[in-house]
Amino acid sequence: MSWLAQNLAEVDARIAARLLKSGRAPGSVTRIVVSKFHPASLVRELNELGVSDFGENRDQEASAKAEELADLKLTWHFIGQLQSNKVKSVIKYASTIHSLDRASLLDALSARPTDAQLGVFIQVNLTDDPGRGGIEPDDLLPFANRVVAVPHLELLGVMAVASLDGEEERDFDKVARLSEQLRVAHPTAKNISAGMSNDFELAIDYGATHLRIGTAITGKRG
Ligand SMILES: *Cc1c(COP(=O)(O)O)cnc(C)c1O
Repeated sequence: MSWLAQNLAEVDARIAARLLKSGRAPGSVTRIVVSKFHPASLVRELNELGVSDFGENRDQEASAKAEELADLKLTWHFIGQLQSNKVKSVIKYASTIHSLDRASLLDALSARPTDAQLGVFIQVNLTDDPGRGGIEPDDLLPFANRVVAVPHLELLGVMAVASLDGEEERDFDKVARLSEQLRVAHPTAKNISAGMSNDFELAIDYGATHLRIGTAITGKRG
């Protein structure tokens, strides 16, 4: 088995074990492999191993890879901060934006209808620092109402990046509660995009449905 196949199998085994331990259904998460910093050839290799969901955080890099791999049936998730002037490019290949984090980006997305609905997660700010970006928890519901009013956007749920300060548990708990609030108003927006290489098992305990896993599978940047 290649090192890549081994990493993938190990991560998938950990996901399966944690779902079981959490009393959740097998396969109830989407495991997205974050391929940023890695060449298209690695994505191709992962696709041969059965991976079809990939995450990228920069349009320049992602659009080049998507073009190079156009012969494959891949699902691209845009997970990084998205500049409004890149929306036109990103919607050509991405089917889901995990990082809808501000009103001006919603405006830019609204202005560009897509053929198929574009999935979006609202990124929430879990810190006390409004400068960190993301929708403030108090603004989540009004912002969600604006998202669902856009016909070509499908609101999938909330997204968050947990802090690295040992407070992951507090953060995931906060996201889970925000997700509950969101679902009262918008029952179909039931997904939670949370959990990375260092914390995906904990994220599973708190109901994450979309894990964004990079280095645990791909190794350090190539
Ligand atoms: C890079 C990145 C990830 C993956 O991080 P790893 O620690 O390599 O698993 C997940 N989410 C976002 C938003 C990222 O930018």
